[in-house]
Amino acid sequence: MASSYRLFRFAGIDVDVHVSFIFFFLLLALTGGANVFFYVVVFGVVLLHEFSHSMVSQFFRIKVNRIVLLPIGGMANIELPQDPVKELLISAAGPAFNFVFAGACFLGLMWLGAGVGDYGAIMDGVDSGALSALSPPVALSILFYVNMVLGLFNVLPAFPMDGGRLLRSVLALWMDYFQATRVAISVGQLMFLLLIVAGFLLPNFWWVVMGVFLFYSGSGELNVLRLKQAYEGVAVESLMLRNFRFVDGSVSVGDFLRLVVSPGLRYYIVVDGSGNFRGVVDAESLARGGSAVAKDLIATHVAHGYGVVDAGSRVDLAFKTLLSAPVTLIVSGGSVVGLVTASDVWENTSFYLQKRGKKRQA
Ligand SMILES: [Zn+2]
Repeated sequence: MASSYRLFRFAGIDVDVHVSFIFFFLLLALTGGANVFFYVVVFGVVLLHEFSHSMVSQFFRIKVNRIVLLPIGGMANIELPQDPVKELLISAAGPAFNFVFAGACFLGLMWLGAGVGDYGAIMDGVDSGALSALSPPVALSILFYVNMVLGLFNVLPAFPMDGGRLLRSVLALWMDYFQATRVAISVGQLMFLLLIVAGFLLPNFWWVVMGVFLFYSGSGELNVLRLKQAYEGVAVESLMLRNFRFVDGSVSVGDFLRLVVSPGLRYYIVVDGSGNFRGVVDAESLARGGSAVAKDLIATHVAHGYGVVDAGSRVDLAFKTLLSAPVTLIVSGGSVVGLVTASDVWENTSFYLQKRGKKRQA
């Protein structure tokens, strides 16, 4: 089952909804009427916020893969450059949009001769479903508050949220990018811990869920950054296992394990009778299958998930493919010249970082 579904496409960007988001709305629809309307407004504003980030990215010719709506908010999938100034402007665009929108609502209210409605009264109205007759001042007040809350929430210095990215880009003007990320993540994790504690004290279930989710989301980015730093300019060939073997797909698993497999070699490239490439098999997992799979043909156990990367590629540029499957085939001129495993990529990170550190000291 797919984890998200396409909602629509605008300005070359797919807008997807995550399954959990659909469940969230179903739950709302079952529990109350006016609530649904309120959350449609909220997520409409969230979407405009994400499009603000995306538009500035596209201005810098940075590709925006898609926008995903989650119950905790939106996420624009942007391949942010390691360029503090661009990152600062892209991160600032979302909250800036919210503050401008809130300001416009405020001016609209002044023009109508009304003030901003009382927050408590409006939220009570939202909760009780008593907002069926939306007067312009109430509608503008709701938009004002939704934008203010979203804007303020997002400028909290909590990486990977906008405020955290703003903090990192400002820090990166003075210090090393990696170091800046580390500091921003630590500040963010402190904020999320506070959010979790506050969620338990109030109690507010959403705060706890959101806090836990966001607490871990920052460190994933740090790992990728560490990896990119370690392998900057390193050719895939330097991680490549040249010692590999081919196996005919029509051989039985039993014969394969007895006659073909040699110690220390885990992955084998499967070819058919005419030498055409059919995939990869993992000898360790076949051995675990025992007698139950011994009579099967190798061809029926080919792992379908494997990447293919050109031998001339760089690890730091091809890392997404290299990590997307347990093993990646390295090809040169149409033929396989070696293998790279995802675990080797992760495990050698420290080695390459150290090597880099020594070079810097020298
Ligand atoms: Zn944002």
